[in-house]
Amino acid sequence: MTQKTDPRRHIKVLPSDLRNQIAAGEVVERPASVVKELVENSIDAGATHVDITIEEGGQTLIQVRDNGHGIPQDELEMAVTRHATSKVASLEELMSIGSYGFRGEALPSIASVSTFTITSAPAPKVANTPADAFFIKVEHGNIASQGPAALHQGTVVEIRDLFANIPARLKFLKTKNTETKRCQEMLSRLALARPDVGFTFTNNGREVWRFPTNQTLRDRLATLWPPAITDSLLPLNHTREGYTIRGLAGHPQKAQPRADRMLFWVNGRSVNDRLLMRAVRDGYRGRLLSKEYPQIALFLEMQPELVDANVHPAKNEVRFQDENSVYLVVRKGIERALDDLTVLEQVEAGTDPFTASPSAHAPAATQASMNLDSPPPKPAGFWGAADDHGVINRNPNTEPTGYETEVVRTASTATMQSSDMVQSSGMDENNDVSLNFSPSTDQEPVPYTPVLELEEQGTVPAEQADLSITPPTEAYSEETHAAAMAETSAAEYYEPQGHAEAEPESQNVSVGDLTYLGQLADTYLIIRQRNQKLILLDQHAVHERILFERIKRDASQGHSQLLALPMNLTLHPSEAHRLQEMWGDLEKIGFSLATSGETEVRVKGIPTALETAEAKGFLREILSGQISSMEDLWAMMSCKSAIKAGQKLTSDEAAGLIAQWLTTPDRTYCPHGRPAVLQFTIDDLEKMFKRKG
Ligand code: ADP
Ligand code: MG
Repeated sequence: MTQKTDPRRHIKVLPSDLRNQIAAGEVVERPASVVKELVENSIDAGATHVDITIEEGGQTLIQVRDNGHGIPQDELEMAVTRHATSKVASLEELMSIGSYGFRGEALPSIASVSTFTITSAPAPKVANTPADAFFIKVEHGNIASQGPAALHQGTVVEIRDLFANIPARLKFLKTKNTETKRCQEMLSRLALARPDVGFTFTNNGREVWRFPTNQTLRDRLATLWPPAITDSLLPLNHTREGYTIRGLAGHPQKAQPRADRMLFWVNGRSVNDRLLMRAVRDGYRGRLLSKEYPQIALFLEMQPELVDANVHPAKNEVRFQDENSVYLVVRKGIERALDDLTVLEQVEAGTDPFTASPSAHAPAATQASMNLDSPPPKPAGFWGAADDHGVINRNPNTEPTGYETEVVRTASTATMQSSDMVQSSGMDENNDVSLNFSPSTDQEPVPYTPVLELEEQGTVPAEQADLSITPPTEAYSEETHAAAMAETSAAEYYEPQGHAEAEPESQNVSVGDLTYLGQLADTYLIIRQRNQKLILLDQHAVHERILFERIKRDASQGHSQLLALPMNLTLHPSEAHRLQEMWGDLEKIGFSLATSGETEVRVKGIPTALETAEAKGFLREILSGQISSMEDLWAMMSCKSAIKAGQKLTSDEAAGLIAQWLTTPDRTYCPHGRPAVLQFTIDDLEKMFKRKG
């Protein structure tokens, strides 16, 4: 195809409607962006109440009505036809802008791609006199009509037939459902940022939600998220070097497989930002599995000069001048909130915070790649993730024996001393490498990372693999330790002699070439493979894997047990919505369900593998979005019914478990991705004992 080259055209100022259409390309991508611009204008106008109505995904109608200060008649035309704003008069002002809008391009842009009517009644100058209301109607950028109108106070903007004159843009819209969802999501973000302002949202004539004025963030989240999540939100509040975060964060046990409940605002504007996302996940590290995401509503406040909110007018992107500070205030704020949680739970459980799990933190190795000059994190707790998922139920009455894994730390190399770690951090006071978790000795424990190899996966994530041991020597040093170890075989050394607690039964039983030696901490099965390997099984993880495979196999049959008395569950609107999505899957695994009203479900039958109470809790978790796939579902069912950690097993039971485990596919990991087995070859042991380099 040949192209005809025109002679050069003269430079011309673009006609204003074309200019507006071009600007619209940036500002008005889809109905949700229109909703955003209009509601932000209402908030900027000091409205205490905003009503939003859309129809057909916003394509046929978007209407925003507020009780703000309105626009005087003589400014109305300018507001909708030209780049005009009442919000900035100078460049300095632009730098420290406190309102949402400032470019004055939203209204003319929207008006250039729709049929647009604005009616406004400014607050009367003399009190108790009726306001004068006026309207302007603009069709695709051209004023169609204007005149007096009837309106009490505030502004109503009505957009009909969005993009009707731009078929190309129309083509890019998704289904009406999707566009509606985006509008709703946009509105929730605005409503969460301003709980003082009342909002209603009506879709196709049906009120979707109503937020009264003067609520709290917690109130608002309780309307948007199910109670299973909002019941246990943790407050965030942290300031560091001029940066402040506040908000609410989900309990680690309520984590979910999707990141769709991670919401961020910077100086009041909703943003999607990867740095913030990463900082949050790093704050949770050790408490979540790699596939899990927490819920969070996080508000970051900083000096406006330190953030460029103008990267893209509609895309919620920001650019931070000092990414490192942003990262740190967020991560530390989260860590702090979660530390409070740890202390709280220990107090509730009556456990000693020292012998119980130290709170889990990021392994150094994963941090190094961050390129944010972030300090080495606190050590990862061996128990961290497991505890937080309720997998390990340690007996709080068990005395520490002095032989137990009491000190847990991570270092990227076994030779790295903790003092090095502190120095290399060069960071602030909060970043100490937790020297406080070894109550019985003043000595610093030796950071220690065993080199493990798992059959299938190669290396184990550090946070799951590290364990270090504080031997009961009075004056402990690495040298005396090494000397002691040279004299004594490992088995003798770790034999808990004179240990007061009743010993677990330790009759040796063989399963194939495995010899079961006994149970440790009522949780780990100790196994010797011929004379070549030491194997540790996590009884819960192993059983979980066995059940998972079984449930997966049986799932296709959808066995159901009918309940004598059907249960009625009342649903939160978000749960009711989710139920519709999951209905088919739930029936496949044996739930028999019937609707009874919009916010109730009748459960007539449950999967055979579950007890009634379990099935109920289980349904709640599915409906709250903590589970999103069949795999998750099975993993959860197997977790619920698996032998718990902290449960004594007889040798026969242990052997039975081992035998079943041997015939199970994918047996080295539990369904959540935690290792079910640790294996040490003689070679590994020699390295760990430093008999070999
Ligand atoms: P910006 O918000 O960037 O100033 P807009 O095009 O969104 O630009 O709006 C233009 C102007 O119209 C605003 O500066 C404001 O003075 C006025 N305006 C728009 N919407 C409202 C409203 N709902 N209430 C009062 N004034 C409004
Ligand atoms: Mg605006």
